[in-house]
Amino acid sequence: MTEEMTPLSPEDRFRFGCGEAVPCFNECCRDLNQFLTPYDILRLKRHLGVPSHRFLVEYAVIHTGPQTGLPVAVLRQGAEGDHPCPFVTPSGCAVYENRPSSCRIYPVARLLSRSRETGAVTEHFALLREPHCWGFDRGREWTAEEWMADQGLAPYNEMNDRLMAIIALKNRRSPGPLSLGARHAFQLALYDLDRFRPQVFQENLLREFPVDPDLLERAETDDEALLRIGFQWIRETLFKTEDGKTGADR
Ligand code: SF4
Ligand code: SF4
Repeated sequence: MTEEMTPLSPEDRFRFGCGEAVPCFNECCRDLNQFLTPYDILRLKRHLGVPSHRFLVEYAVIHTGPQTGLPVAVLRQGAEGDHPCPFVTPSGCAVYENRPSSCRIYPVARLLSRSRETGAVTEHFALLREPHCWGFDRGREWTAEEWMADQGLAPYNEMNDRLMAIIALKNRRSPGPLSLGARHAFQLALYDLDRFRPQVFQENLLREFPVDPDLLERAETDDEALLRIGFQWIRETLFKTEDGKTGADR
């Protein structure tokens, strides 16, 4: 049996329940190829109380996308046995309150499409049924929106959509591998906030880059504010066109 993906309209309901009572409890927390978005890293490193550079060394592997040259962060899985997630325990996920977006959203998949004419973005949902998962047909019924709300996905979606807009922009404006310098800037500003912050506030990295003063002030102590600045800086310094527009301003 292979996985099945079924489109979900806003009105469609599905039944799903997960917890210690399911026979497959923790089975999906091993042998993963688990991508980490910048916001996943922010939440996890804060949960663990470690600086971002230490998190990246201990809990992640950074690959370089072969076609794009973009740095891609993946959760470092255990080398032993069935390659467990570093956060799985017999009683469940040790970082549950700050688990990555891909762990939260399953069994729903969320896709975005952007109109060429108006630029308007539309959300689409699908239900992903994996053969090892016993969570279907137990628990309560959900719409995709209800599932998103229950799983606390709003801040993840908002930040992850910024990342997707940058990747789409990069693919349009700068196809092919990124330069080494651009790759380092991308990794610093989006994945390594605790090294980006001294570059911003002590080395004056943004001296020629206009940033909202209130946002900048908050970013001295607020990781979310700093990540918003990181997204703006990467978008506008790496992928801006000669007319100064990025085409993905939000
Ligand atoms: S982060 Fe938590 S929910 Fe996600 S794979 Fe690891 S243990 Fe499982
Ligand atoms: S496989 Fe499905 S039901 Fe089992 S623990 Fe994972 S998400 Fe829950």
